[in-house]
Amino acid sequence: MKNIAVIGAGTMGNGIAHTFAQSGFKVQLIDISEDSLKKGLATITKNLDRMVAKEKISEADKANTLGNITTFTSVTEGVEYAGLVVEAATENLDLKLKIFKQLDEACPEDTILATNTSSISITQIAAVTSRPSMVIGMHFMNPVPIMKLVEIIRGYNTSDVVTNTIMELSKTLGKVPTEVNDYPGFVANRILMPMLNEAIETLYNGVAGVNEIDTVMKLGMAHPMGPLQLADFIGLDVCLSILNVMYDGFKNPKYAPCPLLVNMVNAGKLGIKSGEGFYDYSKSRKAETVASQFS
Ligand code: NAD
Repeated sequence: MKNIAVIGAGTMGNGIAHTFAQSGFKVQLIDISEDSLKKGLATITKNLDRMVAKEKISEADKANTLGNITTFTSVTEGVEYAGLVVEAATENLDLKLKIFKQLDEACPEDTILATNTSSISITQIAAVTSRPSMVIGMHFMNPVPIMKLVEIIRGYNTSDVVTNTIMELSKTLGKVPTEVNDYPGFVANRILMPMLNEAIETLYNGVAGVNEIDTVMKLGMAHPMGPLQLADFIGLDVCLSILNVMYDGFKNPKYAPCPLLVNMVNAGKLGIKSGEGFYDYSKSRKAETVASQFS
C-alpha cells in the first residue's frame, strides 16, 4: 500500500496528508475547493518548517514530504491507484454518503475505504458501497501530526483482515491504534462532547465567563486546554454536528446541543477556522476572549 488518497484538505485532511507523506507514502490530496487545497498545503509547509526549526526533521525530509503530495479537485481523480482512501470531508451524513458512492465506483475493488468521521455510523456509510467489509473508521485526532491516537472503528460488516491492515498501517505512522465498535460518537466524542457542551451550557447559564470556565478546567483538572478553547480548536460546526448525531442516534436529551452553540454556528462563529468563536483570533493566533458577547 504505497498510494493513499485523502479526501478533504481542511483541518484534519491536511494533517492526515502530512502524516502519511512524512512516512513515505504517495498522497493524493483531494478537495473540491482550490482555496482549501492552497490553505492545506500552506499549513503543511508551515508545520514542516516548525519541525525543521526544532531540528525534529531535516530540510531534505521537508522537501521529500512535500514532494510526496499531489493535489486534485475532484473525488474521482487521483484515486485510481489508491490502496487506501481516507475521507476527511465536512461532517455531514448526506455528503459522506455521496462521496462514498463516488469512491466505490472510481476506486479499484481492493481499495480500502476509510472515513475520519467523528461520529457518523460507519455501517451506514458502508451500506452505500458494494464493499461494506472494506469500509472502516480511521479517526485521527487533531492536530494529526502530533496526536498519537487513532480510533479504529469497525462497522457491522468490516472484516478482520481490513481491521488488522488498518491497525498495522496506523502503527507504521507512529500512531497508537485503538479498536472500538460503531455507535454514535464512538468512544472519544461520546465522552468529550458532553463535557464541551456542558462548558458551553455553563457559559450560557451565566455561571462564569469564558476565561473562568477554561481556567477552572485547565488548572483544576490539569487539562492542557480549556473546554471552550478546545471547542474553538475543533470547530464549533464540527462540535454541533457530532452532538446532533449523538442526539439523533441515542434519542437521549443529554446530548442536545446547547442553544448558544447553535446560535454561534448560525452566526458563522466557528472558532479558529473562521477567526472567532469563544475567543477572537482575528488579530493573531493568540486567543483573546470575546468578552463583549459573554461577560
Ligand atoms: P473542515 O471544515 O476543516 O474541512 C472539510 C473540508 O472538506 C473542506 O476543505 C471542504 O472544502 C472539503 N469538502 C467538502 N465537500 C467535499 C467534497 N465533496 N469532496 C472533497 N472535499 C470536500 O473539517 P475538518 O475539521 O477537517 O473535519 C473533517 C472530518 O474530520 C469530519 O468528518 C470531522 O468530523 C472529522 N474530525 C474533525 C476533527 C477536528 O478536530 N476538527 C477531529 C477528528 C475528526
